[in-house]
Amino acid sequence: MADADTKTLKLAKRLDDIPPYLFQRIDDMKAAAKAKGIEVISLGIGDPDLPTPDEFVEELHKYAQMNAMQKYPAYKGIPELHKAIADFYHRRFGIDLNPGSETLALIGSKEGIANLGLAVLDPGDIVLVPDPGYPVYAMLSVFNSCDKHFVPLLRENDFLIDFSAIPDEVCERAKLLFMNYPNNPTSAVAPLEFFDEAVAWAKKWGVVIAHDNPYSQIYQSDDPPPSILNAKGAMDVAIEFNTLSKTFNMTGWRIGMAVGNPEVIQALGRVKSNIDSGVFLPIQHVAVKALGKPLSYCDGLRSEYADRRKAVEEVLETGGYEVYHGKGTFYTWVRVPEGYTSFEFVSAVINETGIVVGPGSGWGPSGEGFFRICLTRPTAELRGLVQKIVDKFPVK
Ligand SMILES: *Cc1c(COP(=O)(O)O)cnc(C)c1O
Repeated sequence: MADADTKTLKLAKRLDDIPPYLFQRIDDMKAAAKAKGIEVISLGIGDPDLPTPDEFVEELHKYAQMNAMQKYPAYKGIPELHKAIADFYHRRFGIDLNPGSETLALIGSKEGIANLGLAVLDPGDIVLVPDPGYPVYAMLSVFNSCDKHFVPLLRENDFLIDFSAIPDEVCERAKLLFMNYPNNPTSAVAPLEFFDEAVAWAKKWGVVIAHDNPYSQIYQSDDPPPSILNAKGAMDVAIEFNTLSKTFNMTGWRIGMAVGNPEVIQALGRVKSNIDSGVFLPIQHVAVKALGKPLSYCDGLRSEYADRRKAVEEVLETGGYEVYHGKGTFYTWVRVPEGYTSFEFVSAVINETGIVVGPGSGWGPSGEGFFRICLTRPTAELRGLVQKIVDKFPVK
């Protein structure tokens, strides 16, 4: 009951600028399908089906029992972790990082991405956001009173950024550019020459590049994709986010890293030291163990996703669908059949089959006309599920 003396609570206006969470509308569709008695199976959310290796779970248990491990950690991460991150980057990419000044522990890379805005952006600046792209990048404009400028990732450019298409007046005001290869949602991989071009562009305009690389170990080619830090001069302008989430099936554990330009890394560390209190020490110790595994540790995971990708591509293409043959991540990016928008198609698929796939437009306007399938079920099951979609929605 309204009281004459009670005022409405005053919350931040910026909350009105947060679009509804991508999967909210899908959740509503799922609920509606369930209510009709349809069994719902999700290939919508990018969370691995496979478990964290037992040995890491056991290690966590061991450390969690020690009193010394139950205390506040140092906010930057333990020295062993900095060393393990630097060592991993050396073995995987041939990049030499200074542990501590060029490495930073994160509570998952999403945390670092979101907090990076406070370290780089002032009100009125522009943040450049790949479209389609991971939704958190665009949120930095809302949280830091900035403008965002979408850089479209187009099929005809293999979903790479066309730097010549960014207007000069946008480049002038831009302070931060996000990139992500292997790319979510398109599965595109970037060659080193592209990163060279990106770095040269960033130097010209004085823009920080934040390259988000959670799928650095999830690729389906003989050539492991490069880091942006492999590009000439990248350490002058770029940082890279990486994470254990996808590499070791540890999405719930919340541990990631930022590496690269020491000025930006230190700035992000300063922000974080005033916000969080670091990663639970036992998790940091597990991360040291995981990052120390030989690179071949993920061979099995890679060949599993490669099998799944091949199976899904085969079923879709036999059914007449146009599939982008991505070489990284665990997503397949597919053209929506004619006559549907992305949301209309996804909605129809849920209604007719109970299978949830992601609508391309949910990742940005240039995602319209595509849908994303997560390769997060075993091959035989995926084959059956995708066949069901193809049978219900034939493409002539
Ligand atoms: C999964 C994912 C993340 C989140 O990684 P966490 O380390 O679990 O926070 C970040 N960016 C992209 C593009 C992702 O797909």
